[in-house]
Amino acid sequence: MVEELYSSLRRLFKGDLLRPGESGYEDARTIWNGMVARAPGLIARCADVSDVRSAVRAASEIGILTAVRCGGHSLAGFSTCDGGLVIDLSRMRQVSVDADARRASFAGGCLLGSIDTATQKAGLVFPSGVVSHTGASGLILGGGTGWLTRRFGLSCDNVERFTLVTAEGSVVRADATENADLFWGLRGGGGNFGVVTEFEVKLHPLTSVVLAEGLTPETHIRRLLECWRDFMAEAPLDLKWNIDLRLAQQTKKVPIELHGRPVASSSLVWTGEPEGGRPYLEHALSMCSPDSLSSKVISFLSLQTMADSDFPHGRRYYTKSGYFAYLDDSTIDRLVEGISTLPSSETQIELAYLGGAAGRIAAHETAFGDRSAPFIMNLLANWSDASSDVGNISWIRGLFNRLRPAMKPGVYVNFMSGDEQDRVPEAYQERWERMVALKTHYDPSNFFRLNQNVPPRKLATRPVPLL
Ligand SMILES: Cc1cc2nc3c(=O)[nH]c(=O)nc-3n(C[C@H](O)[C@H](O)[C@H](O)COP(=O)(O)OP(=O)(O)OC[C@H]3O[C@@H](n4cnc5c(N)ncnc54)[C@H](O)[C@@H]3O)c2cc1C
Repeated sequence: MVEELYSSLRRLFKGDLLRPGESGYEDARTIWNGMVARAPGLIARCADVSDVRSAVRAASEIGILTAVRCGGHSLAGFSTCDGGLVIDLSRMRQVSVDADARRASFAGGCLLGSIDTATQKAGLVFPSGVVSHTGASGLILGGGTGWLTRRFGLSCDNVERFTLVTAEGSVVRADATENADLFWGLRGGGGNFGVVTEFEVKLHPLTSVVLAEGLTPETHIRRLLECWRDFMAEAPLDLKWNIDLRLAQQTKKVPIELHGRPVASSSLVWTGEPEGGRPYLEHALSMCSPDSLSSKVISFLSLQTMADSDFPHGRRYYTKSGYFAYLDDSTIDRLVEGISTLPSSETQIELAYLGGAAGRIAAHETAFGDRSAPFIMNLLANWSDASSDVGNISWIRGLFNRLRPAMKPGVYVNFMSGDEQDRVPEAYQERWERMVALKTHYDPSNFFRLNQNVPPRKLATRPVPLL
């Protein structure tokens, strides 16, 4: 099949066609999550939309398994496969900004960093994620949360139009008036409907923020989480307060008595005028160790790149996540118990509070759906040695199972692993039937199936786990 595909593409394809053994293949084969090492039969690195169309048409005709890749950061490993085709968009990273209209358009292979750099030249931002080497397409199509979510909404809330190549190879536009059903589905529906080649988005003015950080020692974490829970319910939109429960790093920035100890690491971002944020930040940091505190005005680009080295390519990662409508006391107890048994120095429990602008969009308006449970928890294991796979994965599963009864049903598709396809209906809940109808219309043969998959009606069988 691969040879047939290669022969049919090679005459007209303008980008790179990489097969095993050829120069560039090994680099192109790897994705961010080192747990997912696969060997595609062909990597088609598209130069433009017509390459994407050719690849989709040829692959769909031949019936070969096809993955689509933007930044390759799918935690589940969906952007690669064994023996099939990878449609790689990494050559398609053009960004164009209209400063007066506060609008941008960018191509389907962009990383968040390419967009931030271009929009900041005009003093504008597109609300996205917190690590600049993440791919924009996967992040936006699943929803997209980050430092600016409370102020400006999810990434997908800021998209005005998508252009995509559908399973039959047609170029289709989707916005509020043209293919409005598809526009709905693309805002949270992941890669189910086609290869998005262009996003047209709204931008907002912002060039700097206040960043305040601090560490809370183990003995005070319970009280900190109670305070966070109650405080965020009334907090202004300008404030984002994320908490990571983890082992403290052994660096100069961290007080020596906390080195390697369980801590709550608070990161607060204030997007308003700095003086206005002071009382909120001081209150939030009052439960941190005084020697661990810092507060400074930083550029938006510094904010967007500050976590880049914490999540390097090639390490091993495993995740499970969920929402809480309220963080009750026994959930807090379980979280605190959880960090006393962390299986690796980089593994952490990430807690974020949604609400704000993101919470104002009604459940039915986008496929992303219900935003009424504001506490998002992501259990993220991060380790380097394959011999620690079992320990890390079982720690995540065990803690998740203990926390599960208190969660509100629902899950963010971008914080799911490859063995969680049985939770995809939970992600869409009352929107499931609408998603299935859209999928049946736009991709009846489930050509785009390497994603948190919504099977079209006639193929509605239980999918096989990938990991
Ligand atoms: C280090 C790191 C940090 C993260 N931070 C955040 C964060 O702050 N906020 C957040 O919301 N999420 C975050 N995530 C999760 C992230 O949103 C998902 O992993 C997302 O899928 C990454 O997108 P990608 O384009 O890099 O992924 P890929 O692996 O390239 O693709 C992921 C999925 O999207 C599909 N896809 C990719 N490109 C296209 C396209 N152009 N058209 C159609 N389908 C496509 C793929 O087929 C695949 O199913 C983070 C992930 C990592 C690894």
